[in-house]
Amino acid sequence: MNTIIQDLLNLSHELGREDRGLAMLGEGNTSTRLTDDTFLVKASGTCLGTLKEDDVVECRMSALLPMLEKESLTDQQVDDALLASRVDQKAKKPSVEAVFHAWLLSLPGIKFVGHTHATAVNQILCSPRAQDFAVNRMFPDEIVCCSVASVFVPYTDPGLKLAQAIRSQTEAFIKQHQVQPRVILMKNHGIITLGATWQAVLSAMLMAEKSAKIFVGAAALGGPVFFSPENIARIAGRPDEAYRQRALKM
Ligand SMILES: [Zn+2]
Repeated sequence: MNTIIQDLLNLSHELGREDRGLAMLGEGNTSTRLTDDTFLVKASGTCLGTLKEDDVVECRMSALLPMLEKESLTDQQVDDALLASRVDQKAKKPSVEAVFHAWLLSLPGIKFVGHTHATAVNQILCSPRAQDFAVNRMFPDEIVCCSVASVFVPYTDPGLKLAQAIRSQTEAFIKQHQVQPRVILMKNHGIITLGATWQAVLSAMLMAEKSAKIFVGAAALGGPVFFSPENIARIAGRPDEAYRQRALKM
C-alpha cells in the first residue's frame, strides 16, 4: 500500500475512534489530493473507524467541480456525476460529500480534508449560539490548531447546495482574514477540518471538539469570555506559536 493511502487510512481510523465521539456508523468522511486532477475519498456507506483500502475511491476533480456552477441538479444527476467521476468504474460509489472535498482540495496548500459529526461541536451547531462559537476564540491552542476563526455555513440541503454554500462562505472567510481556514462549521450538521498534512486535520478536529466542550461548560457559568481581536492577532503572530505549529506538522 502506498504511503498516501496509509496516511488517509490513519486519519480515518483516528477520526472514527469510538471513544472520541466524532463519527459513528457511516458518519463522516475523509479525502486526500493525489495529483492536480485526482483525489481519494471515502466511499458512501463505509465506516471511518474500520476504513480499508477498497473503501476509498479515486475521483477526478474535473468531473465534479463544474457541478458547482450549476443552478440546480436533480438527485439522479448528482448521483450520475459522482459515479462518472471515478477513475476506476468498478470502484465503490463516492460519498455525496465528495463535491465539497474536491473543491477544498483544490485550495492552495490543502492536501487532506476530514469531516465528522463531532458530539460536542454539534451540541453547539444545533443551538442558537452556533455562529458565536465559529467567529470567536477563547484560548491560545484553539488559535494554533483551529486558526483565528472558523468558517460558518448556515444550514442547507446536503449535497450540491451545501458544497456551493461551503465555497461561498470559505471564499468570504479568505477575503476577510487573508488566511486559509483550518475549520469549517456547518449549522445543524457538523465540522470539516483541512490542512497540508493528515496530522494537521486531526489536530484541528480534536482541538475544535475540546473547544466545544469548553464553550458549553463556560456558557453554563455565564460565559464564555472571548479573546479580543488584539489577543487573537498577538497569538497568531507569535514566533513561538509558529514553531509549535511546525512541530505539530500544521
Ligand atoms: Zn456530514
